[in-house]
Amino acid sequence: MSKIGIVGSGMGSLGFAIRSAVAGHQVSVFDANSYPGGKLAQIETKGFRFDAGPSLFTMPHLVDELFTLAGKNPRDYFRYERLPEICRYFWEDGTRLQTNAAPAETAAAIASELGESEENVARFLREIGENYHIISELFLDNSLHSLSTWTGAKALKGYLNIPRLGLFNTMHRSHAKRFTNPKTVQLFDRYATYNGSDPYQTPATLSIIPHLEYNIGAFFPKGGIISIPRALHRLAEELGVVFHFNEKVSRITTENHTATGIETEKGNYTFDYIACNADIRPSYTKLLAQEPQPKKLLNQPKSSSGIIFYWGMDRSFNELGVHNIFFSDDYQGEFKTIFEDQTINDDPTIYLHISSKVEKSDAPAGGENWFILMNVPANEGQDWDALVARMRKNVITKLSRNLGVDVEKHIVAEDYLDPRRIEARTSSAGGALYGNASNNRFAAFLRHPNYRKAIKNLYWVGGSVHPGGGIPLCLSSAKIAAKLFAENA
Ligand code: FAD
Repeated sequence: MSKIGIVGSGMGSLGFAIRSAVAGHQVSVFDANSYPGGKLAQIETKGFRFDAGPSLFTMPHLVDELFTLAGKNPRDYFRYERLPEICRYFWEDGTRLQTNAAPAETAAAIASELGESEENVARFLREIGENYHIISELFLDNSLHSLSTWTGAKALKGYLNIPRLGLFNTMHRSHAKRFTNPKTVQLFDRYATYNGSDPYQTPATLSIIPHLEYNIGAFFPKGGIISIPRALHRLAEELGVVFHFNEKVSRITTENHTATGIETEKGNYTFDYIACNADIRPSYTKLLAQEPQPKKLLNQPKSSSGIIFYWGMDRSFNELGVHNIFFSDDYQGEFKTIFEDQTINDDPTIYLHISSKVEKSDAPAGGENWFILMNVPANEGQDWDALVARMRKNVITKLSRNLGVDVEKHIVAEDYLDPRRIEARTSSAGGALYGNASNNRFAAFLRHPNYRKAIKNLYWVGGSVHPGGGIPLCLSSAKIAAKLFAENA
């Protein structure tokens, strides 16, 4: 049995802590915050409840797996349902589209509303599922830095399929070649934002992302997204993991480039192994300042961040579903503004999520809890007070125009997050939601690995390391790190 200390209690940490405890190790987790889950926080105001971070839950089996590993029934800890509807789309010219859980229904809707060939859409959804399985075996389920990943039958299958994986094309060009209506292209391009990237730059390989929603499903946990880290925290404690909340780590101590312990504001702790769940940039510059810095990895462009408005509304809107998108008319311009100009434009694409459509207690009777997210650049010192005020005005104008109602009159409770606040609350560099962006074809190889021989006994989990950000990939990072740990230790 080894003593393991973990910096941070985000999803990557919770996954790694549970796996390590199940393997018989003694685990301690330190977080600067007062709660487990990092970006999975919640906001409560005037009778409204909002999940502050993620709103879309995919791949729930990765959470269930942790309970099963521990010999527990996941349903004794948390429940979720598959949503019958995926998303409602709104365009400025009045075009409306609803996509549904059944791929055949989505293909039929895209055919009837956007004029695509139904068979072509259905084939696309099937193909991204097939590609997902090839890619996940190579990139998502394994370390890219282990020889075993690149040898054997699965790797050979991957090599043989390289031409169909879209490594040498951009996501946008691949969709534009495939579909006739620019709106369909826009709809599938949108999925680049699920890892904070630009569809006009990110490789077509990432076209697999909608597979998660369209072929596996969009899910909603009972009690909201916050119930996921709460359930995992409960399981971890039952397995003997000790949590130190409100205890910020100031240094990971090393001797001869080997991690030896953790220093916090409250004390010094010695461990056999450390896992770091904090973003790689502050981890190296602050916690590991004594070690050589992997400059190439640290200098990659950051993923997008978000401005999020949390609005309690005093009425409900039948034309809205759980997930809604109001598209910008100039999608390419929007991404150029974010990634090249590092600012926001006046016609942003708006994502509007309403959890009270499913979880009635999230809003007072007759009202709705609106979570409104716009993609924005990571914090590089922009004037966020001015940008938030401008964005609020533009969002009210756009939603009012599309819904035919002065939405501002119905806001009765209000809060917001911007990149500065996200950074302050979770220590993510620049408030980037997904670590580094994947805006070039080598991005997967330029993510920080889950273990580097340069600092021994130190493992890395979470959204800024391999395989990437988002709840499912953070849980995968924990799985890969635990596998490497079992091999090395
Ligand atoms: P994080 O959540 O980043 O947590 C890291 C933890 O480490 C924090 O608790 C922090 O306090 C702690 N920490 C850092 N430094 C220290 C230190 N020095 N000492 C002690 N503690 C420290 N993902 C989805 O799957 N679906 C979505 O719909 C989605 N939408 C999102 C919307 C928003 C607004 C945001 C912010 C994120 C969204 N994401 C979404 C992304 C997802 O939330 C993240 O990728 C994921 O939660 C990151 O988890 P993590 O393991 O990297 O840890």
